[in-house]
Amino acid sequence: MRIIDGKACAQQIKQDIAKEVATIAARGLRVPQLAIILVGDREDSLSYVRNKAKTCQSLGMDCQTFLLPDDTPEADLYQLVDQLNHDPLVDAILIQLPLPDHYNSAKILDSIDYRKDADGLHLMNVGLLHLGEPYVMPCTPKGILSLLTTNNIEVAGKHAVVIGRSQLVGEPTAQLLIRENATVTLCHSHTRNLTDFTRIADIVITAAGHPRLLQPEDFKEGAVLIDVAINRTEEGLEGDVYSPRTREALEQRLSAATPVPGGVGPMTIAMLMQNVLDMYKM
Ligand code: NAD
Repeated sequence: MRIIDGKACAQQIKQDIAKEVATIAARGLRVPQLAIILVGDREDSLSYVRNKAKTCQSLGMDCQTFLLPDDTPEADLYQLVDQLNHDPLVDAILIQLPLPDHYNSAKILDSIDYRKDADGLHLMNVGLLHLGEPYVMPCTPKGILSLLTTNNIEVAGKHAVVIGRSQLVGEPTAQLLIRENATVTLCHSHTRNLTDFTRIADIVITAAGHPRLLQPEDFKEGAVLIDVAINRTEEGLEGDVYSPRTREALEQRLSAATPVPGGVGPMTIAMLMQNVLDMYKM
C-alpha cells in the first residue's frame, strides 16, 4: 500500500506559493493579505487561527487577525465584514468556524464578498461549485482532490463513496468528484448498511468523525482510502479508519491511503494559502 503523504505534498505547495509571493514582493508590489475573524475563546479555534496566521506570514503574505469576544453584537460583526469587504488591501476573509451558537452562521458567511470568501462557503460559491464553475473551492475538498491528482490516482469512471455530507467537507467533496467524472455515492448518518457501499467502492473518502467507523475488511481489495477525520482518542489522533491499530491490515488490503495525522490535514491549510494567493491574482 502506498502512503499518501499529505505533509510532503503540502510542503511543496507552500514552497511554490512562497516563491511566487517573493517574486511579487521583489517587483515592489503589495503582497496578498488574509483577514481572519475569530469570535469567542475556544482553545482549538484559537490554535487553528494562530497556525493559519503563522503559515500565511511564513509564506511572505500579510495576515490580520481579529479576536472578538463571545458577546460581540451580530451587527458589529457585519460591520467588520463590510469594512474588510471594502478594504482594497484585503484579498481574502476567513471567519473561523464554528461561530458561537447565538449567531446566524450562514447569514454571516454570506455577508462576505464572495470574491473574498477564503473558505468557499458563501452561498454564491456553493452554487457555482454545484454548477461546475467554482470561483473558489473549499479548502479540505480541494486538498483531497489535489492529493488524488498528485498521486496519480485516477478518479474518472471510478466509484467513489463519500461518507459525511457536511457543507464543509462531505458535500463539496462529492461535488468535486462528480465534476471529475467519478460515480459518487454520498453516505451519511442515515445510510443503512454502510459497508454494502464501501465494499464495492474504488475510492472511499471518510469524514464522519467516528473512530473505528470501518474495519480493513470493509474495503474492496486494492481500494483507495482518504481518511479526512481527525478524532482525538485515548490512544492519540485517529481517523475514521486509519490508526496505528489498523495500519498493518490496511496495508494488506488497500492500494493507497492517507495517514492520520499527516494526510488531509496539512493539505487543508496549504489550500487555504493557495486560495489567498489566487484571490489576490483574480
Ligand atoms: P460534521 O459533524 O459536520 O459532519 C459529519 C458527517 O458525517 C455528517 O454528515 C453525518 O451525517 C456523517 N456521519 C456521522 N456519523 C456517521 C456514521 N456512523 N455513518 C455515516 N455517516 C456518518 O463534521 P465535518 O465538519 O464534516 O468533519 C468531519 C470530520 O472531518 C471530523 O473528524 C473533523 O475533525 C474532520 N475534518 C478534518 C479536516 C482536515 O483538514 N483533515 C477538515 C475538516 C474536518
